[in-house]
Amino acid sequence: RSSGEKFEFQAEVSRLMDIIINSLYSNKDIFLRELISNASDALDKIRFLALTDKDVLGEGDTAKLEIQIKLDKAKKILSIRDRGIGMTKEDLIKNLGTIAQSGTSGIGDLNLIGQFGVGFYSAYLVADYIEVISKHSDDNQHVWESKADGKFTVSEDTWNEPLGRGTEIRLHLRDDAGGYLEGSKLKDLVKRYSEFINFPIHLWASKEVETEVPVEEDESAEEESETTSTEEEKEEDAEEEDSEKKQKTKKVKETVHEWELLNDVKAMWLRSPKEVTDEEYTKFYHSLAKDFSEEKPTAWSHFNAEGDVEFKAVLYVPPKAAHDQYESYYNSNKANLKLFVRRVFISDEFDELLPKYLSFLKGLVDSDTLPLNVSREMLQQHSSLKTIKKNLIRKTLDMIRKLAEEDPDEVHDDDKKVQWKIDFPGSVIFFTDPVDEYLMQYLMDYEDKKFQNVSKEGLKVGKDSKVKELKEAFKDLTKWWKESLAGENVDDVKISNRLADTLCVVVTSKFGWSANMERIMQSQTL
Ligand code: ADP
Ligand code: MG
Repeated sequence: RSSGEKFEFQAEVSRLMDIIINSLYSNKDIFLRELISNASDALDKIRFLALTDKDVLGEGDTAKLEIQIKLDKAKKILSIRDRGIGMTKEDLIKNLGTIAQSGTSGIGDLNLIGQFGVGFYSAYLVADYIEVISKHSDDNQHVWESKADGKFTVSEDTWNEPLGRGTEIRLHLRDDAGGYLEGSKLKDLVKRYSEFINFPIHLWASKEVETEVPVEEDESAEEESETTSTEEEKEEDAEEEDSEKKQKTKKVKETVHEWELLNDVKAMWLRSPKEVTDEEYTKFYHSLAKDFSEEKPTAWSHFNAEGDVEFKAVLYVPPKAAHDQYESYYNSNKANLKLFVRRVFISDEFDELLPKYLSFLKGLVDSDTLPLNVSREMLQQHSSLKTIKKNLIRKTLDMIRKLAEEDPDEVHDDDKKVQWKIDFPGSVIFFTDPVDEYLMQYLMDYEDKKFQNVSKEGLKVGKDSKVKELKEAFKDLTKWWKESLAGENVDDVKISNRLADTLCVVVTSKFGWSANMERIMQSQTL
């Protein structure tokens, strides 16, 4: 649209789109769960705001917290609409044009793409042109549109129907993605991937219905005169004759449209643990943890705490360490438990709920005791949280103890017996993974050999005798050098024999962070 303001995607976004499209082309289905998950997040946000201000929900249909899917077979458009919080013009530019906002930013290892949430851009797996129409209460309705060609446009929306509030994503499907215009396919995908979304997902479904309509006199006479040949038809005729006395009718096929509810909105954790099957727990884990590896969680615990502090909780031990386990351990803002208060999602950033050493758990807590209509900050201070935390720890330890009894191989809880089986690539050891930096803080030696990081102080090569002489000779120079660099984060200036052709090298002090560690730490504090 010529009136729209034009923007370019951040370079990383274009790169990410390429990666998604090239590595997930055989797994296109995931786009739907990503868009539904975004819709659900947006609905969570507005519902949370409505706790303290009912008016934000609006009136009539706008107040309905739901997700709607529509198919337009003629135009080949699949649209997903939510009545969530919506996006302002600024939000559209920032959230759908830069990467810091996207859930995908943390995925360092591209092999892992597909097992975790890959976000909005996955919609380009099935669409070659996308319009995002959005209305946030702070702004007019806007349209974001892009053909994933490095550019996008944002315009004030003067031509679409007003949304009231929320977002509609219109996917103009690629030629090879026409299958997503089939209602049955979408129903199947929602069942598989989005079963546990806590808001109703409706499909504007068309179906063929047979209705009985009265037959006009001359028409029925015509039918009767037809001769029937097979046994079956004769029987049918006999049946028809029975009803004939009442009212002459005929069956006609008609296509009707109606909103069909695709998911069971009842929160899974409210059900009795006895009623929930292992398969359901596994699926719930995948949707909760956004882990689509299809692996079964190692253990889970679903319980109901009663008494002064009432809550329900489902806790999982994941099948394997999360790709960002180490980062999230050191990043206190990221908790893996979702907090609900009376079915309303409050936050997944409550680090008061579990001690750090249990940060590998995934799960949720739904409390009936915590107050609903207070700010997040006030909730964080609430005295019930301590009781909840104590309970969660006890239940978790029970779960792990039980696991140890039933399946000792799964548990490595005895420090002394922990064995490292490590395969490193290369002819020297290469440490290419972020976790290697952490590992080497604990792995001091192998057999009787000490490890020495070549980028750190203390590397010894050859004989030291000559160094001693040189140290003496250059004493004044090193002293002068050290003093001139004082205040520049330089601890010391030394003579060494580690270099061959280079004059000098900056190395890390023995207990300091290596340059690589600095980089890792920096990437965690965005
Ligand atoms: P993530 O959901 O992990 O943040 P996405 O790539 O899926 O990453 O989405 C990027 C951002 O775009 C979201 O964080 C959100 O701010 C915004 N967004 C996407 N879809 C919607 C929507 N339906 N309603 C409101 N905001 C949305
Ligand atoms: Mg998302």
